[in-house]
Amino acid sequence: MKNRKLMVKKTASHSKATSISLDELNRITMDIVLYCQNDLKWILARLGYYLYVISGMLTGGLTVYLLAPIGSYIFFGTWNCLPYLKYYPKMLRQGYRFVWMMLVNPQNINFFQIGLSDPPMSQPDRNEVRISKQWDFSEKNCADCTICCKKLNCPLTDKNGDCLSYQSFFWQYFLCGRFPQNQKQIDIYECPKWEIKYA
Ligand code: SF4
Repeated sequence: MKNRKLMVKKTASHSKATSISLDELNRITMDIVLYCQNDLKWILARLGYYLYVISGMLTGGLTVYLLAPIGSYIFFGTWNCLPYLKYYPKMLRQGYRFVWMMLVNPQNINFFQIGLSDPPMSQPDRNEVRISKQWDFSEKNCADCTICCKKLNCPLTDKNGDCLSYQSFFWQYFLCGRFPQNQKQIDIYECPKWEIKYA
């Protein structure tokens, strides 16, 4: 009888161990699936972007024009590159300017705090920033303000200063969609809309 009790106890603990390891396995599988669905996708998308931009700069713009629809999709959200080709020379110049800024002052690299696997964003992290009390306009847009675009000398604006890249791949995966991330960015761009929550 005593032996039987022992056996039941052993079987119960064995099945518990099996169920724990199955839970573990399920968790790991879910992590891998989520990683492939999100992080890996974002990493590959950013690497593809860098490949396009760097090869374009190294060839003096040749591959940028040969693969113009890709650039158009990245920066303007459409494969139809024809209306946007006139912006390409300015975009190239801006690329070289950024590289120069980073060579002159390597700290500028850290200014854009965006990791390869960071999710695309279409608004700043509301855990970090809030609307400034001085901002009298809608939360959903920047009213007539274009200060940050002008300060950056952004080539992705039309003659009225309107953003042509709004909600595009570039806008969401890089700085625009998540701007501002910190006080330094708010100060440099003199942004009147956002303030850091816990300054
Ligand atoms: S500076 Fe601020 S308010 Fe002005 S356009 Fe840029 S994000 Fe919008």
